[in-house]
Amino acid sequence: MDEFEIIRRYFASRYPQRADVVLGVGDDGALTRLDADQQLVSATDSLVAGTHFSGELPADAIAHRSLAANLSDLAAMGAEPRWFLLALSLPEADAGWLQAFSRGLIALAEHHRVALIGGDTVRGPLAVTVTALGSVPAGHALRRDGANPGDAIYVSGSCGDAAWAWRALAGGQALPEDDPLYRRFAYPEPRVAEGCALRDLASAAIDISDGLHVDLERLLAASGAGAVCRADDLPLSSALLDRGGEESARYLALAGGDDYELCFTVPSARESQLLDLVAGWDCSVSRLGEVVTGRGLQWRLRGEPMSSPRPAFAHF
Ligand code: ADP
Ligand code: MG
Repeated sequence: MDEFEIIRRYFASRYPQRADVVLGVGDDGALTRLDADQQLVSATDSLVAGTHFSGELPADAIAHRSLAANLSDLAAMGAEPRWFLLALSLPEADAGWLQAFSRGLIALAEHHRVALIGGDTVRGPLAVTVTALGSVPAGHALRRDGANPGDAIYVSGSCGDAAWAWRALAGGQALPEDDPLYRRFAYPEPRVAEGCALRDLASAAIDISDGLHVDLERLLAASGAGAVCRADDLPLSSALLDRGGEESARYLALAGGDDYELCFTVPSARESQLLDLVAGWDCSVSRLGEVVTGRGLQWRLRGEPMSSPRPAFAHF
C-alpha cells in the first residue's frame, strides 16, 4: 500500500458529509463555506506514541483520543465543530491497524458530525496530529480571559479517572476493556454540546487536558485574577475512589490531566440560570469556588489551606 492507496482506502470516504464542504480530500487544499456573521475557531493537538500514549493502545482509541482532544479545545471556545484535518506519521502501512484507526475516527466524527477535509500521510514514528475547525457567532466565543472577581468556578463531569488509567497502563497493568476508568482514558467524551450551551452564560472557560489545577491557573492568569476553591467539592467518581482512596483520587483530579472536562466561570447573578441549563445535560457540574481579586489559586480542604498540587505531566 502506498500513500495514495492509504488515503483512498481509509481517509477519503465513509466520513460524515457536510453541505458546507465545497471541496474535501483530494485537491491541494480543502474549500469550506462559512457564514459572514461567524468566526472560524481553529485548534490543533498532536499525540505522539511514547509521550501521550503507549503504542499498544488500540488503534481505534488512538484515533478517538486524537480527535477528541481537538473537539475538546473547540468545546472550550464554545465552538460548533465542523471540519478536521489529519496529519498521520506511521512506521508501516498495516491494514489491520489502519482499519481500526479509521473505524475509531469515523465513529467519533459521526457522533459530532465533523467532516474530514484533508491531511497528510508520511512514514515515521507513530504520531497523530489533528487540526479541528469550527465556528462561533462572531464575538461570542468563550475565552480564558473573561473571568471576574465574584464569579463562581465550575467543572463538568468528574476528574482524575483518565490519569488513574494512564498510570496503571504505564506501570504495565492490563486493564479490562470495559473498565470505566480505562474507557475515560481511551475514549474521552469531549463536552461539545455543553461548551456551545455555555456560550452566552460562562464568563471564561478552558478544557482540562493537563490537570484541573494548572489549567484553572491558566484561566485565572489570562483573566488577571485569583481564586479560592474547595478540594472537598472535587467531582471524584466512585470507580476512582474505589481504586486508591480519597487522597489519591483528589491528587489525580487536581494534577492528573487527560480529563477533557470543561472548567468555567459564571457570574454569580447567573448561577441559577446555569443550574436550569445543566439539568438537561448528560454530565453533572460541580461548583468548586470563587474568583477573587489578586493572583494565585488557593485550594482548601476542610477549611484548611492545602499546598498546591504539583502537576504529574510536563510537556518538556
Ligand atoms: P499534496 O502533496 O498536494 O500535499 P497529498 O498527496 O499529501 O497532497 O494528499 C493528497 C490529498 O489527500 C490532499 O487533499 C490531502 O489533504 C489528503 N490527505 C492526505 N493524507 C490524508 C489523511 N491522512 N487524511 C485525510 N486526508 C489526507
Ligand atoms: Mg501533502
